Amino acid sequence: MKILNTVTGPVASDRLGKTLIHEHFVFGYPGWEGDLTLGPFDREACFRAGLEMAGKVQAHGVQTVVDATPNETGRNPLLLKEISEKTGLNIVCASGYYSEAEGATPYFKLRSKFGDGVQQVYEMFKKEVAEGIGTTGIRPGVLKLASSKGEITDYERMFFKAAARVSREEGIPILTHTEEGTQGPEQAELLLGEGADPGRVLIGHICGNTDIDYLMRVLETGVFIGFDRLGIEGLVGTPLDSRREACLIGLIGLGYAPQILLSQDWVNHWLGRPGVADIVSMVMPNWKPTHLFDDVLPVREKAGITAGQIETMLVDNPRRFLSGGA
Ligand SMILES: [Zn+2]
Repeated sequence: MKILNTVTGPVASDRLGKTLIHEHFVFGYPGWEGDLTLGPFDREACFRAGLEMAGKVQAHGVQTVVDATPNETGRNPLLLKEISEKTGLNIVCASGYYSEAEGATPYFKLRSKFGDGVQQVYEMFKKEVAEGIGTTGIRPGVLKLASSKGEITDYERMFFKAAARVSREEGIPILTHTEEGTQGPEQAELLLGEGADPGRVLIGHICGNTDIDYLMRVLETGVFIGFDRLGIEGLVGTPLDSRREACLIGLIGLGYAPQILLSQDWVNHWLGRPGVADIVSMVMPNWKPTHLFDDVLPVREKAGITAGQIETMLVDNPRRFLSGGA
């Protein structure tokens, strides 16, 4: 048994239970802060929505949710702590930065022109992991990285290199965002080449790609992969769940369940002007925090996937990935 950091403090790994590895209680694309006049942050609404989401997933036996929100997209550890304290749900937060295409890039781009960018990002990750985020005392339980569609840019590489170093030194796992499932093998190679432990790396959103040969190439590097966008269908270059399920069933059949984690990348509260949630649920009706349990897992019975294999993906793999223990 190992100890890992949640927003309420250290927790023993055997207390994690059923875990959703990549969700968002709150998220905003950088720039939302400029629209505060029309879209002010309603903390109370966000908190209430968080309690509701926690209740919905807890009703399916979920005991832990990883909030994979990067630092510059509305990460809010104190709010997560309040939601966790009120509901008893374990919540793990992240330290990380988003992709060059969708993150807030000017800050570290400018700093890296006048100094060692990797070192500066390293210092930020290191301080947050070792001592806490800002003055909250809350320590992240994962590092979050992201790359662009079809490439890992120089800007993004700074974060990958710094994260691999902090992961090695502090024993914290790394969870990634691949854009439309691209650059999976490259992300794994980059991180492992920088000394990260494959057992502490999760290549995320890989289910954006339904090419079995490609998925197996990522798995053969020894890392975990995330089928973690279930329900996000057809909007941002993403495949239908039926295609994802076909891949999932095939990979489980080949014995890869011990490397696969499941989640939905659900955004529970969008920062900025209201109305986004309504549009999103209109174009992606399956995207919801319980989609995995309501719609995806029932498919397993038809495919002969066992309850034990589901437990491997929802309980054992998150525990091993997050804690580094057995
Ligand atoms: Zn996400």
